[in-house]
Amino acid sequence: MGFMTQITLALTKGRILKETLPLLEAAGIVPSEDIATSRKLVFATNNPGLRLLILRGSDVPTYVQFGAADIGVAGKDGLLEHQGDGYYEPLDLGIARCKLMTAVPVGAQVQAGRLRVATKYVNVARQFYAAQGRQADLIKLYGAMEIAPILGLAHEIVDIVDTGNTLRANGLEPREEIADISSRVIVNKAAMKTKYTEIQAIVDALEEAVASAL
Ligand code: AMP
Repeated sequence: MGFMTQITLALTKGRILKETLPLLEAAGIVPSEDIATSRKLVFATNNPGLRLLILRGSDVPTYVQFGAADIGVAGKDGLLEHQGDGYYEPLDLGIARCKLMTAVPVGAQVQAGRLRVATKYVNVARQFYAAQGRQADLIKLYGAMEIAPILGLAHEIVDIVDTGNTLRANGLEPREEIADISSRVIVNKAAMKTKYTEIQAIVDALEEAVASAL
């Protein structure tokens, strides 16, 4: 398929990208060079009207919200934290599944007083504890959340849990589930109107790829 207008699709690098590429291929979208071995950030595809951006997950909603990218693939965790508007979320790709959870040192009692929570997801955590009527001081970290409780920085953490191996390796256990996470397709609201045909063709093709991957 060739497009009349240029469409920019922003992908999340890392684990999500690995699981996205086979779905793109099934949807007929193939990068014109190997993304894994290149340091480029923009890639042409077999469709001259479609290019790919490779971004950090937390930047994908920003690019799509402001229309710098028309479509994006991002983890629901990042979307919940971003709390932006300006985009629709038409499709769950069902990949990179995990859970957003609280975790505490193994066997820890429920903290009676004011809770200190270390997380990358401060917005999600703030809403979660507020909805429970619990006072929580949030400490923003950019990585290695798992060591915060052992070092006394926080009583608990809010983080992504897949197998739970990372938690266990650091003396932690999952406690409360905050959200089920998977990767989602997001679409800039204005682009959805002005480039409807092209965008809908991509979303439909991805939806079929997801359905036949089940
Ligand atoms: P695990 O040890 O399998 O529970 O995975 C732990 C770490 O891998 C988490 O702290 C995350 O940083 C990362 N991780 C696992 N699954 C995902 C995912 N679907 N998306 C993003 N990060 C993930």
